[in-house]
Amino acid sequence: MNYAIIEGKKTMPQKQLKGKCISCGSEMIAKCGDVKLHHWAHKGKRHCDPWWENETEWHRGWKNLFPEDWREVPSKDENGVKHIADIKRPDGFFIEFQNSAISIEEVESRNLFYKNLVWVVNGCRSVLDLEKSIRFSGLITCEGIVDVTSMGLRVCNKWKKLASHIFIDFKDNSSDGRKRIFYLISVDKCDLLCELQVEDFVLMAKSRGGMKPFIQKAHKLKDEVIKSIDEKIAIENENKRKRREWEKKFIDPFR
Ligand SMILES: [Zn+2]
Repeated sequence: MNYAIIEGKKTMPQKQLKGKCISCGSEMIAKCGDVKLHHWAHKGKRHCDPWWENETEWHRGWKNLFPEDWREVPSKDENGVKHIADIKRPDGFFIEFQNSAISIEEVESRNLFYKNLVWVVNGCRSVLDLEKSIRFSGLITCEGIVDVTSMGLRVCNKWKKLASHIFIDFKDNSSDGRKRIFYLISVDKCDLLCELQVEDFVLMAKSRGGMKPFIQKAHKLKDEVIKSIDEKIAIENENKRKRREWEKKFIDPFR
């Protein structure tokens, strides 16, 4: 973890420091070696939160975009079960940053525990997905939406059934050079990605209405895209029908 409590204050790790866990209160040792990111570890025992994953630069980079008070916040449910949220807004809006593989059961448990939860997942875990993300970059509409159904992205296939609000980070930039993420909308066997600049994501996540305005806009765009896909399919079917008729009339030897 990036924080432990020393004299009542959330403190970052420094060599030789000792502190208390922000969640369970047990002793924490600062680990400041050359290989791993500097972090706090529970003295002589495993992490008190089984959901905690070892942090990477990716996690830290994301968390640091939010106020310090919102990072690594212990939360308790009605049964007294505790977990440490990556980001918790004071009004109970949570963001989890997921880098490594995670089981379906755990995603479901976290959705239940946090209730008002938005996921940001690392989209670069599969090399194939990464290659595809470069391909679909050129297909994004001016409204920032792209149909990736036929690409079969692994990250979409895994996450679309698991939670309602998924943002995927392919660690790339939009055409204006700003860092972006994609909101995943999966409906009627269609996978759509809606582009959002990271700085806008952060602004919205910090503002009162949260991600709602963006999500509403994305769903409106989705309806338009799906309508145009339906229209395209209808035209294709009509063309096929015409062609079959034409073939019957002029080619079919058994007529
Ligand atoms: Zn602990």
